[in-house]
Amino acid sequence: MIDRSRIERDIRTLTQWTATPGEGTTRLAFSAEEKGARAYLAAEMEALGLVVATDGAGNLSGRLEGTERGAPAVLFGSHIDSVRNGGDYDGPAGIVAALETVRSFVEEGRRFRHPLEIVVLTEEEGGRWGAGLQGSRAMVRGLSDEELALVDGEGLSKAEVFRSFGLDPARIGEALRKPGTVRAFLELHIEQGPLLEAEGVAVGLVTAIVGIREFVVTLRGRADHAGTTPLALRQDALRGAARMVEAVHDAACSRGETAVATVGSLTVRPGAYNVVPAEVTFTVDMRDASTAVLDEVEAAVRASLARVCDDLSLQGEWKELMRVAPVAADETVVGALREAAGKLGLPTLSMTSGAGHDAMIMAGLAPMGMVFAPSRGGKSHSPEEFTAVDDLVSAVAVYAEAVALLAQEVS
Ligand SMILES: [Zn+2]
Repeated sequence: MIDRSRIERDIRTLTQWTATPGEGTTRLAFSAEEKGARAYLAAEMEALGLVVATDGAGNLSGRLEGTERGAPAVLFGSHIDSVRNGGDYDGPAGIVAALETVRSFVEEGRRFRHPLEIVVLTEEEGGRWGAGLQGSRAMVRGLSDEELALVDGEGLSKAEVFRSFGLDPARIGEALRKPGTVRAFLELHIEQGPLLEAEGVAVGLVTAIVGIREFVVTLRGRADHAGTTPLALRQDALRGAARMVEAVHDAACSRGETAVATVGSLTVRPGAYNVVPAEVTFTVDMRDASTAVLDEVEAAVRASLARVCDDLSLQGEWKELMRVAPVAADETVVGALREAAGKLGLPTLSMTSGAGHDAMIMAGLAPMGMVFAPSRGGKSHSPEEFTAVDDLVSAVAVYAEAVALLAQEVS
């Protein structure tokens, strides 16, 4: 049985390791706070009889062998690092879920053909060096020397911090998992959005993680006197940007219910009350689970940019910052989650994840699936992040049964 009080206790225990008590969770990768949380998790895993190890990239794992020698393992976990002044659930919910899953199996004496392995993946948020998903990338693709040379806010390189943590940067390649050694990867995570709460459903089944495209657009016009230049003679870059903000919204809005697009940052030059804006730079972030939809949204935004430049005599520049393809969850894993929910009589909601997760990297190694638990008010990356423990219990129950199905229980 999934135990409510143990889940509550684990969440509370992890919450105490924060660099900003009273102001949310700040637990950066390889910090003293993260070390404290790791020590707790390692001790809990050892107490369950798991073989605890830390790989070349700092990923912590706890493994329980299955009944068949050499069978690929079912991996499940999440992260314990946080953003600055974040919440108590983004990451820890998935770690607590993994721990409680194995606890309940050990308690009930359940045995499986495939090994079970809890993974605590490092530096997911990128809060320290700015390149997130480090642990999963190290397992699936490896990390480059350039990445090891990245420095944090205090001037410490990733390689230096690895050394002080007792890791040898030259052996980071040992974190790589061989293809065929992992049967499936499951991650439970808080939704970080409002849908589950709105529907009154405790368990979200992720069918895909969105692809993300980010661009920087610059519109150039001409700076003129705001009093003496007639409106008809102006080349106002901010008017162009204003039209583009609407065009970006409309481009996503007109293409299905799931696509989103955002202008999140805008800089006006020269930025004076009495000068016609000469230049505006703004960002465009577009997300959807379908590459075809993303292509359409991008094409629509680019067509609008050409039209706006034409109409207002502006010059437009378009630069790509980031392009990440959508990742679909594996049908077998989603099927196992659905079957588990059916067995438990718990309603689920199928959804796409609008945020990136380690699971999307792990999909490059093994069939992947994710479970979402509701976020109160949709809030995340803030001290107000909250998930009701009853909802967590339901989500963990479905996740644990799916792990059992994928690991093939033996009687
Ligand atoms: Zn997270």
